[in-house]
Amino acid sequence: MVMKTRSACASTSPVSSTCACIQTENLSMDASTQVLVWSCCICGLQFPLSDLQAGGDNRCERCLLVESLRQQVGELQEEVARLRSIRSHEEFLDSIPVESTEVTVLGCGTVDQPLMEEAVVQGENWQLVTSGSRQCSTPAPNPPTVLLHNRYTLLSAGDKESPPTVEETRPCTTKVEQSPATTARRKRRVVVVGDSLLRGTEAPICRPDSSSREVCCLPGARIRDVTEALSRIIRPSDYYPMLLIHVGTNDTARCDTERIKCDYRALGVRVKEFGAQVVFSSILPVKGRGPGRERCILEVNAWLRRWCRQEGFGFLDHGVLFQEGLLGGDGVHLSRSGKALFGHRLANLVRRALN
Ligand SMILES: [Zn+2]
Repeated sequence: MVMKTRSACASTSPVSSTCACIQTENLSMDASTQVLVWSCCICGLQFPLSDLQAGGDNRCERCLLVESLRQQVGELQEEVARLRSIRSHEEFLDSIPVESTEVTVLGCGTVDQPLMEEAVVQGENWQLVTSGSRQCSTPAPNPPTVLLHNRYTLLSAGDKESPPTVEETRPCTTKVEQSPATTARRKRRVVVVGDSLLRGTEAPICRPDSSSREVCCLPGARIRDVTEALSRIIRPSDYYPMLLIHVGTNDTARCDTERIKCDYRALGVRVKEFGAQVVFSSILPVKGRGPGRERCILEVNAWLRRWCRQEGFGFLDHGVLFQEGLLGGDGVHLSRSGKALFGHRLANLVRRALN
């Protein structure tokens, strides 16, 4: 009874008998009101027929609004959960010792002092080399001729494999052939090249400065495709502090580890021609593609880690970070949060290489 009265009050019905109904709450008048109203199927409130939705939707405006708000809250909760998950992964990343990145990224030293050792080896004034980087303001006036710095210190902490004592005694390679003075004038560019897993990482990697960062995503690319594409991507006129390569997933479909290793070796020969510092990103796990493929990926990654160290390349090891939830529905590509995390990891490395 009360509800009916309220609904009549809310109405703009010009029918005078409704107003009379409010004042008198007379049963017989109620009967006449019911003829003119409709009820919301959710809250049961009654409204004049003139307010009925055109589509025949018998839910009132308030109930529709509540439903829309509930939906928005649900979406926001999902978004918050996603962001929280990314943050926890980021915290996890930051807690990992930056083994393969800082230590072996540049082949000839850590990121903190990347170019100093090159300069020493070449007997040049390293201030010229590092023009544009932060280190250039505090050059070592008389760099020692014998370097005692162990560039694998960080690596040995987190790596159970035998320490690379051979590499420590090895002189820096002669791959940096351009004169430091030329380097200073060259444009510094970091290139990230690889297969379709790079899709979606462009924004986090390039956003800070798209002029010095480039992502070359070659959908369906195998290792050989990257080897071939490099000559089109690398400009001899630019200086490359780092070339980050993520490829191999498509190659593992055949589970032919020997061929994969062979292709990586050929790629290694090719990238050395460019004189860039090279980092290989480990192959991400796949899901639902059989134990053979999973075993192949593990084997290749283990080999890649050793090979990168032998060759003086960096190795960005994602380990088993990308598992359930971070892999997409096809079991090969990444989910939305997986892409965000992957992009963040690559962008982090690129940032360190450029700073
Ligand atoms: Zn309602």
